Amino acid sequence: MKSIIWHRNDLRIKDHEPLVTACKHGQILPVYIFDPALFESTMYGFPKTGSHRKRFLIESVEALRNAYRQKGGDLIVRTGNPAEVLNEICDHYQADRVLCYGEVTSEETEAEERVQSLIQVPLVKFRGHALYHPNDLPFEIRELPVVFTQFRKKVEKKCSVRKPLPEPENINFADLGDPGSLPGLGSFGVDISGGDERSVLEFKGGEEEAWNRLNHYFFESDSLRNYKFTRNGLLGADYSSKLSPWLALGCISARSVHAEVKKYEREVHKNVSTYWLIFELIWRDYFRYSAEKHGNKIFRLGGIQGKNLEKRTDPEWFKKWAHGMTGIPFIDANMRELWQTGYMSNRGRQNVASFLAQNMDMDWRWGAAWFESMLIDYDVCSNWGNWAYNATVGHDPRNRYFNILNQADKYDKKGEYVRTWLPELSEVPSEFIHKLHTMSPDQQKLFGVNIAKDYPEPILDLEESYERIRQEG
Ligand SMILES: Cc1cc2nc3c(=O)[nH]c(=O)nc-3n(C[C@H](O)[C@H](O)[C@H](O)COP(=O)(O)OP(=O)(O)OC[C@H]3O[C@@H](n4cnc5c(N)ncnc54)[C@H](O)[C@@H]3O)c2cc1C
Repeated sequence: MKSIIWHRNDLRIKDHEPLVTACKHGQILPVYIFDPALFESTMYGFPKTGSHRKRFLIESVEALRNAYRQKGGDLIVRTGNPAEVLNEICDHYQADRVLCYGEVTSEETEAEERVQSLIQVPLVKFRGHALYHPNDLPFEIRELPVVFTQFRKKVEKKCSVRKPLPEPENINFADLGDPGSLPGLGSFGVDISGGDERSVLEFKGGEEEAWNRLNHYFFESDSLRNYKFTRNGLLGADYSSKLSPWLALGCISARSVHAEVKKYEREVHKNVSTYWLIFELIWRDYFRYSAEKHGNKIFRLGGIQGKNLEKRTDPEWFKKWAHGMTGIPFIDANMRELWQTGYMSNRGRQNVASFLAQNMDMDWRWGAAWFESMLIDYDVCSNWGNWAYNATVGHDPRNRYFNILNQADKYDKKGEYVRTWLPELSEVPSEFIHKLHTMSPDQQKLFGVNIAKDYPEPILDLEESYERIRQEG
């Protein structure tokens, strides 16, 4: 039997059920397809997949190809509509079936439906992005608890995480002929030259890099030991695991991360931090199963709650946020980090999301789409789910919002983070760094910044915006 493995967000060969299954029954043809639809411009006027994410994706596909080459085979790489490409490959290689991991959100499931309706052989779908396998959940997806804590308690009590599958030792590749070449970075529109030395990490795509990062964070630097107490950091590589980009593209599976936490607990140390990393992976599952339950509601302005909202949709107003020019240093520093590197801390993400959706009163979907374009760890369920949550149309019905200045004082007390990303404020001392407006003209001169000229005035009055949010509450 000849099986095509259609790789999508599962760019690995370890813990890969379709691959293991196919290897048991004959020859395989691994395939990756660059679908032009995923690289087009969105209705918001920026690309669906920006340069940082494209670069990380190409590196990950290349690494997958190299892994197959080391096993004596190759990865077929094509660009085009997946249904048409797979149909052509099925015909050309006389394949008997196509195996893939099934997704849960509409663009992805519709792509699967188009494939199935065009190809003449079965499309066999597996589930494997989550920590807990959907078949092991102690409830139907439609009965997913409305609150995360209930979900977590139920899965922790009643399910166990399946063991990762071993990498197949011998793979019997079909004769692949011309496997095709990867798009070059330039022709693919990647317009970033080199990295940014301020980046928290030099993120490089691929399965081996994922494992290198995991081994560094868990076993070499022993950073996992303190994860719960460092995870709200903003600067440096090791305040959190930084595994998200590799998890998002499936260069490593959540089950493998879980298995390594358990190994660390057995061999090194078990504490609240080791538990907390798994706790965060359960959040990831929750957003995935929520997306499956609620379908396209997760993309609506009123979210899964179906709230009737009217929000601003002014592109110029939005651009100030996206380009880090709001005049609120803590927000701008985070937005510039995202723009320059494709990554932002969880603390930063919560603040900038709350600021856009609540203080600026913008349609939060603009922000979610910007994150989709920018983030190297973009994951449809985690991104849209977290955005909705922070825009108060998701799973937490409370009118929660962040007090941006309190957050800045708490998490960037000395202003080191802000100064890293806003060099125009590099001379401003800590007492003014989050409250630039309290500097006199003489002080501005002394600290080398002319507010309004070198750095924008705040686009809004924070206190007034909190008052409005409370009243709307
Ligand atoms: C507005 C907003 C948008 C976000 N968009 C994404 C996204 O597109 N992709 C993404 O992977 N995460 C997203 N997150 C969640 C979180 O910010 C990132 O997963 C985390 O910052 C990644 O860094 P890390 O790997 O060091 O995380 P760690 O703190 O080391 O956590 C370990 C892993 O747990 C998972 N995780 C942690 N926090 C969350 C969370 N709140 N929700 C879901 N999973 C979580 C991630 O897979 C992460 O890699 C978003 C959060 C917010 C507030």
